[in-house]
Amino acid sequence: MSAPGLAVVRSVAELRRRVAAWRAAGDTIGLVPTMGALHAGHLALVAAARERCRRTVVSIFVNPKQFGPCEDFATYPRPETADFAKLSATSAELAFVPSIDEMYPEGFSTAINVSGIGEGLCDAHRPGHFDGVATVVAKLLIQTAPDAAFFGEKDYQQLMVVRRMARDLDLPVEIVGVPTVREPDGLALSSRNAYLSADERRLAPHLNRALREAAAEITGGAAPAPVLERAISALTDRGLRVEYLELRDAATLAPVASRAARPARLLAAVHLGRTRLIDNLPVPPPAPSRS
Ligand code: AMP
Repeated sequence: MSAPGLAVVRSVAELRRRVAAWRAAGDTIGLVPTMGALHAGHLALVAAARERCRRTVVSIFVNPKQFGPCEDFATYPRPETADFAKLSATSAELAFVPSIDEMYPEGFSTAINVSGIGEGLCDAHRPGHFDGVATVVAKLLIQTAPDAAFFGEKDYQQLMVVRRMARDLDLPVEIVGVPTVREPDGLALSSRNAYLSADERRLAPHLNRALREAAAEITGGAAPAPVLERAISALTDRGLRVEYLELRDAATLAPVASRAARPARLLAAVHLGRTRLIDNLPVPPPAPSRS
């Protein structure tokens, strides 16, 4: 089905035909990969794409390869009609909505593994997740051949993995990071927030609050280790089960033990009931002394 102003295509061949016609007309193309259940965070990526590119393609594909066997692939929300309605109110021209068979036909055997930056943090708790992400994003980038592709900073490690993969494979695309869109109480928008009960929804903003407080303390000169420990205890006391809460180098994601002269990033994942939430914040380097 299609919505006014928005074309919906489901095959790689049709996607390529449409993109080739735009290319022939000299248009630049932006790609916004998503798993659907669209919210204002996704729409911020579409807006960022519009600023840089003449045409915007939004892909909607719940990628089975990035879900673990005990994760929520079967129950992940798939409100296709509502998603098309939301997209048709944006500047996006094309929704690419492939089936699993279209993306992974029988015999599909290739996987992309990004070592280093794709290890630890989320990978330690979701083994194979970033292989699934890198594989599907590589396919989407090759299928669409955009000038730029847009990813949220909310999934910071994913953004770094995709950037590394595009560089390593010489994909001629700019990977653009877009700041996290939040609820007024600080909770990062996520399709998975729909899983939260009313009580859990009230507790969820503590994740962002704990990160903000910890980032402020570290920025103010406090040693990271005790700050992180206190943040973990505060979250645990409130009933959020902390998977990790760590300070990493913002570019390499290498662990940061003491505040160095490089930008850092504070990253966390917690479980609240059956819902897994992630968030992250920048920790700027100390201002240079004026001596
Ligand atoms: P998803 O549909 O969850 O796979 O997300 C698709 C893209 O939207 C990814 O690049 C996410 O990082 C990005 N995204 C998800 N939530 C947000 C948010 N709250 N703010 C900005 N970008 C987001």
